[in-house]
Amino acid sequence: MRSAPQSGHTNPHPGTPTAPSAPLASPAPASSSVARPPDGPRIAVIGGSLSGPTVALLLGQAGFANVCLYEATPASATLGGGLISLEHPSLTVLDQLGIGQHEYVHVPSETIWKTPVRGRVLGEPIRRRYPGRFTTWTQLHQALGRRIPHGMAHTGVRITGLTTHCGRPLLHFADGHAEAADIVVFADGRASTGRALLDPGRRLRYAGYVGHRGAQTGNPTGIVDFWRLEPGPGVQFNIAPVPGGGVDWTFYLNATATQYTEMFGAAPCRRLFVHARHVSDVAREQVDANAVRYLPEPYATGVRTSTTRTAFPVMDIDPPTRMVWPVGDGFAVLLGDALAPVRAHTGRGANNGIEQASGLVDALAQHLRHGADLGTALIGWQRRHLPAAVAAVQRGPEIGARLGLGTTTPTPPPTPPPGTAAAATAVAAPTAAAATTTGPVPQPVLAGVR
Ligand SMILES: Cc1cc2nc3c(=O)[nH]c(=O)nc-3n(C[C@H](O)[C@H](O)[C@H](O)COP(=O)(O)OP(=O)(O)OC[C@H]3O[C@@H](n4cnc5c(N)ncnc54)[C@H](O)[C@@H]3O)c2cc1C
Repeated sequence: MRSAPQSGHTNPHPGTPTAPSAPLASPAPASSSVARPPDGPRIAVIGGSLSGPTVALLLGQAGFANVCLYEATPASATLGGGLISLEHPSLTVLDQLGIGQHEYVHVPSETIWKTPVRGRVLGEPIRRRYPGRFTTWTQLHQALGRRIPHGMAHTGVRITGLTTHCGRPLLHFADGHAEAADIVVFADGRASTGRALLDPGRRLRYAGYVGHRGAQTGNPTGIVDFWRLEPGPGVQFNIAPVPGGGVDWTFYLNATATQYTEMFGAAPCRRLFVHARHVSDVAREQVDANAVRYLPEPYATGVRTSTTRTAFPVMDIDPPTRMVWPVGDGFAVLLGDALAPVRAHTGRGANNGIEQASGLVDALAQHLRHGADLGTALIGWQRRHLPAAVAAVQRGPEIGARLGLGTTTPTPPPTPPPGTAAAATAVAAPTAAAATTTGPVPQPVLAGVR
């Protein structure tokens, strides 16, 4: 993606003033009053992560000539991101965009292993065939970003408001300028400005646990699939290989909001993504100590030696009841995490965003090509995609409850502390290969059953 100038944006609609002139909540017009410009409506897509670029590229492919993508972070910023599982419908959308799997699938696994861990020993794993493939946020973001046409994307620009002017939605930017559009697609993630403007009653709330994340440069256990280790209530450890020969892990541990603030310097609702610079020594020690308490030795060592650490608070939200809002004579929609930021365990966040993007463009294409009523097309899209978003929002707390995650009780601090004599007597598996205590347990090192 290319950077837009930080100021002096060219306004594609000369004569459109750059000051708000009407509140957002304009009454819904008869949608037939929206004149169709020859090159189709002007569509502003907010958010340049996964859902936003997907919808922008699909719009271009469908013949929409007037599409702009706005991303708040500068082009040079790395948002970082680990493993993401994509189901077949999402993979088909990427096929449709001409993105070969070799660009974003580094290990062609279709397997997730789930295994209990007792006394730091791996139990018998259960194999689940996954109807899709594994990628990483970074790979997928780059594969999408490479295809964004020159001039479509504007990075380093933050949307702050939405009003109407002369019947059109008018977007306001942090630098003070404003631009009109006919359709605004908010794909601006779980801290969405679009959701705050359109659906302000739906606020994020802390679920009571944290996903501590790390990247290891090596892969000592030789894993080739996705593994979920479940040591007991209040603890889950996910690990998978990532490009470059390393592994990516996420260690879920309960923490009160106060503990979160102590570990990361701000409350969960204020710090929705913890960059490496905000991971305190307290947080590192908490994670390392719990790794020693709960995980088999190779994994605990892997955690302790992972220099790159980040974290995120697991958040909940009320399920959405709509995806489309009339704004003047135009429309605004929410999709992806902006619509329904679901818990990571569901494996549905990126999938929902991509599927919703594809469905949205199908609906809009009927308007462009065949003159379908725009409002009706959008409501049809909402009817088809809202149930899946609601289901994913509801599924997260169910999974969390099954794992004992998200209770108000924090994961107990490790006792005895590592390094003490008592800790040395704890039952421990010195290596994954030595953990075969419950029959013929496939170890992660052997897990590439394809
Ligand atoms: C540990 C973990 C594991 C996961 N595993 C899976 C998985 O297996 N499968 C799956 O489907 N999903 C998974 N997810 C979820 C997935 O990563 C998200 O659902 C996905 O990234 C959401 O994409 P998005 O584009 O909708 O939003 P985001 O990725 O949040 O992107 C929003 C973008 O909008 C930009 N932005 C925000 N506000 C503004 C503004 N005001 N103006 C302009 N730009 C703005 C942001 O900078 C950002 O680039 C996982 C998430 C985590 C944390």
